[in-house]
Amino acid sequence: MTGMAHKGRVLMIIMDGLGDRAVPEFSYRTPLQKARTPNMDWFAQNGSSGIMDVISPGIRPGSDTAHLALLGYDPYEVYAGRGPFEAAGIGLIGRKGDVAFRCNFATVDDDLVVTDRRAGRVKEPDTIELVEALQSLKMDGIEVIVGLGTEHRAALILRGEGLSSDVTDVDPHDHVRIWECKATSEKGERTADAVNEFVAAAHRILRDHPINVARKSKGLPPANILLPRGAGSFPDIIPFPEKTDMRSACVAGVGMIKGICGICGLDVLEIPACCTGGTGTDMIAKAKVALEALDEYDFVLMNIKAPDLSGHDSLADQKVEVIEKMDEMFAYIRERLPDDLVVAMTADHSTPVSVGDHSGDPVPLTIYSRHMVRDSCKAYNEADCGEGRLGRIRGKDLLPIVMDMANRSEKYGA
Ligand code: ZN
Ligand code: ZN
Repeated sequence: MTGMAHKGRVLMIIMDGLGDRAVPEFSYRTPLQKARTPNMDWFAQNGSSGIMDVISPGIRPGSDTAHLALLGYDPYEVYAGRGPFEAAGIGLIGRKGDVAFRCNFATVDDDLVVTDRRAGRVKEPDTIELVEALQSLKMDGIEVIVGLGTEHRAALILRGEGLSSDVTDVDPHDHVRIWECKATSEKGERTADAVNEFVAAAHRILRDHPINVARKSKGLPPANILLPRGAGSFPDIIPFPEKTDMRSACVAGVGMIKGICGICGLDVLEIPACCTGGTGTDMIAKAKVALEALDEYDFVLMNIKAPDLSGHDSLADQKVEVIEKMDEMFAYIRERLPDDLVVAMTADHSTPVSVGDHSGDPVPLTIYSRHMVRDSCKAYNEADCGEGRLGRIRGKDLLPIVMDMANRSEKYGA
């Protein structure tokens, strides 16, 4: 290598929950094997393929830990709870030392017994005013930041000295009295006190708020408490653009994925409203945003949530349909491939329709570039990709391989 090769750009396409298991009604094929996917297969025929254990063999990844691994981070090192990623997903990106929680607006009676965990699915504009009212909340030595999520959801960040995520949930996940936040280690004691103080103070503000007075007079459950859960610390990580020397962006419809990418320092791009993140999402519109972003960025991560949703709902036929729709998106990308582009097509985990949740099955992987060795894999699916020359790799191996294909790796040794 003379160092003369041009640096390429990278498009990483994460088809959320794509991997599956044999479906008896499909003659023991997977939804991806059953689906007609000439364009995904074209990438497999013109690239190298393999299968990938995103965390390690048999481990069932969450979307959050999986995306961290795909971005080259060790989730066991940097992942400390879901709260920060949920908070970042609604635009609250905290800093090292902050503790974040996911929260629900809920309804409690006078004895603090939860009567509605979602406060009648309270939503905007009511929640906007309620969140605003909570910003005035002052606590001794601890800064409180509350962010608005979708519908009854919100996020809470506590900022101050000596905070820790070693605390339990306040949300009892049931129609019982709210739980007291408790420390799970000595480190968590100050935080547990702060959480209990926050919940009580927020309840006092929300209880008599005009929005809730109005809701009660309309016969709606008042959103009179915020219930924190899923405490997590913001990870202290080297930002992805710094680590890779690539200007980097993400195109995603789901809050948590945006949050992960935001925390990792990727620019989270605006996408059109038709990219809902649901199964009816306009994937071509999303691909257009991703391809246009490559004018400005060296690395674009694109997440398509739809196959995961069909997997969770155990809808095998719907998963096939979603995959065939994704194939049209790959036709769109294939027709517009820049010469220097490295495309990685994979999933963050399997969500088999027979499981209805994430599983530890490895996911299919194809890496395409004009210069990629074309191996014997002719079809993009869980079985054929396993015959490819990339073999069976771990999620953390993906980034170094695509960086190398893009001529962006540093030489190790002379
Ligand atoms: Zn996922
Ligand atoms: Zn999922």
